[in-house]
Amino acid sequence: METKKAFLQLQNYIGGQFVPNKSYINSYDPSTGDVYCQVPDSDNEEVGAAVSAARAAFPIWSSWSPENRSRVMNNLADIIEIHLEEFAIAESKDQGKTITFARTVDIPRSVYNFRFFASSILHHTTECTQMDHLNCMNYTVRTPIGVAGLISPWNLPLYLLTWKIAPAIACGNTVVAKPSEMTSVTAWMMCKFLSQAGFPPGVVNMVFGTGPRTGEALVCHPDVPIISFTGSTVTAQRIIEKSAPYCKKLSLELGGKNPAIVFEDANLEECVTTTVRSSFSNQGEICLCTSRIYVQSSIYDEFLQKFVEATRRWKVSIPSDPTASMGALISEMHLAKVRSYVKMALAEGATINCGESVDTLNIPQNNQGGYFMLPTVITGLKEESCCMQEEIFGPVACVVPFDTEEEAIEKANGVKYGLAATIWARDVGRIHRVAKKLQAGLVWTNCWLVRDLNLPFGGMKASGLGREGAKDSYEFFTEVKTVTIKH
Ligand code: NAD
Repeated sequence: METKKAFLQLQNYIGGQFVPNKSYINSYDPSTGDVYCQVPDSDNEEVGAAVSAARAAFPIWSSWSPENRSRVMNNLADIIEIHLEEFAIAESKDQGKTITFARTVDIPRSVYNFRFFASSILHHTTECTQMDHLNCMNYTVRTPIGVAGLISPWNLPLYLLTWKIAPAIACGNTVVAKPSEMTSVTAWMMCKFLSQAGFPPGVVNMVFGTGPRTGEALVCHPDVPIISFTGSTVTAQRIIEKSAPYCKKLSLELGGKNPAIVFEDANLEECVTTTVRSSFSNQGEICLCTSRIYVQSSIYDEFLQKFVEATRRWKVSIPSDPTASMGALISEMHLAKVRSYVKMALAEGATINCGESVDTLNIPQNNQGGYFMLPTVITGLKEESCCMQEEIFGPVACVVPFDTEEEAIEKANGVKYGLAATIWARDVGRIHRVAKKLQAGLVWTNCWLVRDLNLPFGGMKASGLGREGAKDSYEFFTEVKTVTIKH
């Protein structure tokens, strides 16, 4: 007799309770292609219930002192840290990323997000100005807004969701959060610890489901005045449109097509090692990953040879392999999309230097249904090629030569995106000049992904609207009022 396999089934977390749902969708283990768990397919009704719970909790939570809110946030950080390994295993299985990346980046950063905003909320000040000639003084007050809707993507699941939840609740808002339907497990696990940490019911609510159904219900809910979204530019455009009738406050963190510019005076060894990491970490599925590498002509051949050699050493393996540099891509559809860019490049006459279509992928028998792909380096592309203009969001890097500083800047800025850029050079004057001219919200020089959470994070052009960080998130998640007193 055939026995039906029981899958892990997630439930929404509303008003401090786990609630079974009417219908579910499957979520897959990217390293095998098998069903990993079932995720609620929430609609208006569940989103409405979560918003009601968040509204009911708002007067209570917003009246707590920052110290008390900070205390329970730190409690939650401690609990997640105690369970770090369980969270890391779940994140790696759900997303396809290596266990090492989940263990050293995703979960520690999720813990730190709570600790960071639990601390920073204790240190904000408001403004005061004098107008003595009018016998007036002015000051500003900041207040939490209400129910915040938080929508996050699948690439850094708990990391990016907690980067929104933590500042929102630190400021005294309550939240309804919706993680990606493809990677919901760690968000659901975290809900199990909220009451133990000391959160009153309804402060953090989690509704699971797809973007068009669950996400849009949240975006269109009249009692959610503020939406923080991280995801693709196309979805953001839809969110802007759908939220326009309600004039909602929006923060949008979107896609990128990030350039690295390598000048001839760069430390080539360091540059190659870091650029392989910046191009292929997390399978190239980080919005900040390098995808276009401009190299000064005098060192182009040497760079390319070293970069291809180092890329070939970037090991693709099953996510649980502790020696893996890269795991599986998120879904069958996404793998097909990333591969289609390599095919397009070939059709345009480009050269594939290593990876897809050139080298052989070795994956164990049990993982043949997984969504694996080799890191791929392409050369010989024109600037107007789709591979050079569109966000691929996978392990594909394109290398192009340039001659002058002006040419490099023009090429780097020649896309619709403006999220991050990297400069490799030793000439300090040049670094300042180029950094100033690059259209990117973040410019790293001789390093990548070094982040001080105090400072603004976000993109220009089609890469986003608004910034996140200690002061920026505080300003976004509060309303400001100017009070004038004549004495
Ligand atoms: P996506 O836009 O498809 O989905 C993101 C989230 O939005 C998911 O939770 C999804 O369910 C939801 N969603 C989809 N349609 C919706 C709708 N109509 N209304 C409301 N919600 C909806 O993006 P993705 O594929 O999950 O993530 C990859 C994208 O995210 C890439 O473009 C990447 O660059 C970007 N990203 C940006 C940053 C950043 O900080 N700038 C960070 C990570 C990822």
